[in-house]
Amino acid sequence: MTASQTPPAEIRSRLRKEVNFGCPICRSPFLTWHHFDPPWHKCYSHNEEGIIALCSNCHRQADGGAYTRQQLRDLKSKQISDPPLGMLPWQVNGVLIDFGGNYFIARTSKVFSIRIANQEVFALRMDDYGYLKIDACIWNSRNELVLRLEENDIISYLDNIGDLICTAQAKAISVVSKQNDARLSLRFDRSDPDVTILNLSKLLTKSRLESAQNIVSYIDRDLKHTLKALIDTDKFIPTITMEIRVHGPGFSIDTSGKGILLDMTGLGYDLANLTGKFLGEHALKINYGDEKAGYREIIHFGSE
Ligand SMILES: [Zn+2]
Repeated sequence: MTASQTPPAEIRSRLRKEVNFGCPICRSPFLTWHHFDPPWHKCYSHNEEGIIALCSNCHRQADGGAYTRQQLRDLKSKQISDPPLGMLPWQVNGVLIDFGGNYFIARTSKVFSIRIANQEVFALRMDDYGYLKIDACIWNSRNELVLRLEENDIISYLDNIGDLICTAQAKAISVVSKQNDARLSLRFDRSDPDVTILNLSKLLTKSRLESAQNIVSYIDRDLKHTLKALIDTDKFIPTITMEIRVHGPGFSIDTSGKGILLDMTGLGYDLANLTGKFLGEHALKINYGDEKAGYREIIHFGSE
């Protein structure tokens, strides 16, 4: 049995940091691991000094002998200050979003967004070609930007990034802030519609049984029909699984546990812990205020 060509996690993490989270040649954040000293086929082991993080394209060129061992060693020790540049290639007309165990359906006819106190944290918008593109803002607890997504472009703020992982096949991206107080993880899949519809139907039944405990609950009554509208031309349902821990001005939102945990004490509101099940394509909105001061929308999840 031969060892895995993928180095262990702690080596990968150091190799990513070494190149400041992007290919040292072209700055793509979608990284692979090039064993150049010794080459992988010579000893099937991970000598960290002889491995460099490269994108798959530059990796192939390095395999073909484009660079000497010394040039690769020089690239490993080079101080790189340019941020990585890349783009999520996901092209969908509609998508099912798993957000803290709540499921939202976004279709091009309806723009999807997550806004807290009028601050947009996440949004899917239609581009000129009719595809949904992702916008997102990840702030740390000092309200400094860690990462932004702008129409699928990955814009990173290197001073505030602890780790940035973009898989070579571009199916997943995850970023953690330097202080470990903010994170975003997005995973893209094309799922089997039968399995997805069955799983969500089970969730729907379970959620109805538990509905008395739910703080927030909206269940699409015509789930099957709505989900079927998402099936793409290859007969899959595009799915994005999202986990975030973000500190916006006056609020924080955390979906790394169960449900959606919102802390809005900075805005003068109580803690809001949304552990109910939401499933559908309508918006989930919460208004705070009173008759005298007037109500204002402070949470908005879902379609416009
Ligand atoms: Zn490259």
